[in-house]
Amino acid sequence: MTAAAPIRSPATPPAIVFTDWDGTVTLQDSNDYITDNLGMGHPKRMIINDKILDGTTTFRDGFREMLDSIHKPFSECIEYLLANIQLDPGFKSFYEWCQAENIPVIVISSGMKPIISALLTNLIGEDAMKNIEIVSNDVEINPNDESDWEIIYRDPESGFGHDKARSIKQYLDNHGYTTKDNTPVLFYCGDGVSDLSAAKETDLLFAKHGKDLIKYCIRESIPYTEFNDFQEILSKVQTIVKHNGDIQQFIENP
Ligand SMILES: [Mg+2]
Repeated sequence: MTAAAPIRSPATPPAIVFTDWDGTVTLQDSNDYITDNLGMGHPKRMIINDKILDGTTTFRDGFREMLDSIHKPFSECIEYLLANIQLDPGFKSFYEWCQAENIPVIVISSGMKPIISALLTNLIGEDAMKNIEIVSNDVEINPNDESDWEIIYRDPESGFGHDKARSIKQYLDNHGYTTKDNTPVLFYCGDGVSDLSAAKETDLLFAKHGKDLIKYCIRESIPYTEFNDFQEILSKVQTIVKHNGDIQQFIENP
């Protein structure tokens, strides 16, 4: 006997892709980039990074300390990033394919919304801003002194600052995806510590080759599949969504 087909309305997309932004959709992490070049610099950032990795400080507090070391006007930081940050070479075709297949792409980020919006518009175009929802932290800028700005966390009580698992659950709730049967296939793409909270919420986690998230997945026995760029993500998502491929075949730590 075969299992009953899931009950999904015709409007239900075949899949939903949640993705981290910095270092995942972009090649460089924009917050690390401004911290290294306009703030405390790479060596000091690494000291805080190690504390986050070994758990002696939270991502929320460490990340704030990094950003607090930047005393440039916020608009100057954005200009600097627009001139230096590059897009993953496969992301544009991935996004276009998802659009054609009615698959929503949602950015779930620990970064600040105005930076992500500026980069998204600059790297992909105005259209992407309309089609890609951004769920992230924000920024507050002193109206009398643009060099005085601070990150505003979405979930200040969480050690992650932005509880990505909560955002994914909220998105699913808001769209009525409340049971396994009516929920599309869920994917998450990420590279770092802040993605850990989201890692268990989807059917398949894409973790970037050579980055911190993989170490965590191995340590915590969270199933993942590796990617180098969005071309590889596209190929695996197509196999699963279009050709009914088994997700398990891609898991690297079964
Ligand atoms: Mg990242």
